[in-house]
Amino acid sequence: MPGTGVNLRGLREHNRALLLGQILRAGGLSRVELAERSGLTQQAVSKIVPELLTTGLLEEQRLPAAGVGKPRTLLRVRPNARYALGAQLDRDELRVLLVDLLGRPLAAEVRPLRAGFTPDHAVSVLAEAAELLVADVDRALVLGMGVGAVGPLDHREGIVRDATNLPGWHEVPLRELLAARTGLPVILDKNTNTAAVAQHWPDGGGAATAVVLVGTGIGVGLFIDGRLYRGPRTNAGEFGHTTLAFDGPRCGCGRRGCVEVLHNAAASTGEAAGLLGIGLADLVQVLDLERVVLAGRAVHAAPDVYREAVEAQLAELLPVPHWQRIRVEVSELGEDVVALGAAAEVLTAFYENPK
Ligand SMILES: [Zn+2]
Repeated sequence: MPGTGVNLRGLREHNRALLLGQILRAGGLSRVELAERSGLTQQAVSKIVPELLTTGLLEEQRLPAAGVGKPRTLLRVRPNARYALGAQLDRDELRVLLVDLLGRPLAAEVRPLRAGFTPDHAVSVLAEAAELLVADVDRALVLGMGVGAVGPLDHREGIVRDATNLPGWHEVPLRELLAARTGLPVILDKNTNTAAVAQHWPDGGGAATAVVLVGTGIGVGLFIDGRLYRGPRTNAGEFGHTTLAFDGPRCGCGRRGCVEVLHNAAASTGEAAGLLGIGLADLVQVLDLERVVLAGRAVHAAPDVYREAVEAQLAELLPVPHWQRIRVEVSELGEDVVALGAAAEVLTAFYENPK
C-alpha cells in the first residue's frame, strides 16, 4: 500500500485477509505453517484464527499424526460460509452458476437468448436464473453476482459501451440495472477477463498468459506480471480485431480481414484454428507471452484440432530458441470458464476484505 498509512484496526483487517487468502490458496494449513508463510508471529496468528473460526469462515480438520507425535489440525476455508453467482452473457446464451466460497460450482442455469435480445430481456432472464439458484441457500450469505459480458465495456463504471454484434446495446448501465433487479452487488467485466481470472483462481500464477476465448467472438484475457491486465479504459484484449488481411472481408467491428471474421469464415475447423495461430504469433511476440490457454465453445468442440494447429503455427512463425518456449494448453474449465471467473471476481473482492 504505497503512500497510505495503516492504523491498528486496518492492520488487523489486513492480516485477517492475508491469513484467509493463504489458507484458501494452500487448500488448508496448520497454525505453524500459517505463521511461517505469512511472516506473522505465532501469537498474532493465534489471535486472528479464533475470530475466523467464530465467524464461520474457517473450519478445523484433524489429521492423523504421521508416526509418533500429536495429530495435526488443519485450518480450511469453510466452503458454505458464503456463496457467489457468476454469469456469462453471450450473444446467444446466458449461463449462471452458483459457487461456494472455494469457487466450486454447485448449480447452473443455462438459457438460450433469441437474436436481437434487449438489455431488459437479458436482465430479466439473468435475475430469474439467479433467483432459482439461490432459492436453497441463505440469501444473507450470497456475496453478489459477477457478469462476464461481451465488450467493449467499462468495468469500473459497469457500462456496456457498444457490444460488437449485439444490436441495440449502446451505453447500457448493466451493473446498475442488474443490482436494482436482484438486490445484489454486481461486478461487470469482459468475458475474456473473467475467463483469465478463472484460469488463475485462486493461485494467481506467474507465467505471462493469454487466455484466448473463442466463442461467438474472439478475444483474449491477459494475465501478466501475476495480475490481470485490463488496460486504462478496461478494454485490453480485443485480439479478435487484429488485422490479418487488410483487404479481407468486412468484419462486424467495421474493419477488414480481422482474425475473427477470417476465423469464422474458414472452410474447416483446422483452417480456422490455423488462422487463430497466425494472429497469436504476433501477440506472443508483442507481449513476450509464455503460455497460451485456449478456451471457449469452438475450442471445446475440437480441442485437439485447436491445440495442434496453434502449436504448429507458433512453431512455424516463431522459430524460438530453447529459452523462449511457449506452452499451448486447452482450458480444463470447459464451457463454465467465463461464469466461473465472474464468480471468482466476487469472491476475490470478499477475500480482500473478509467480513
Ligand atoms: Zn473486426
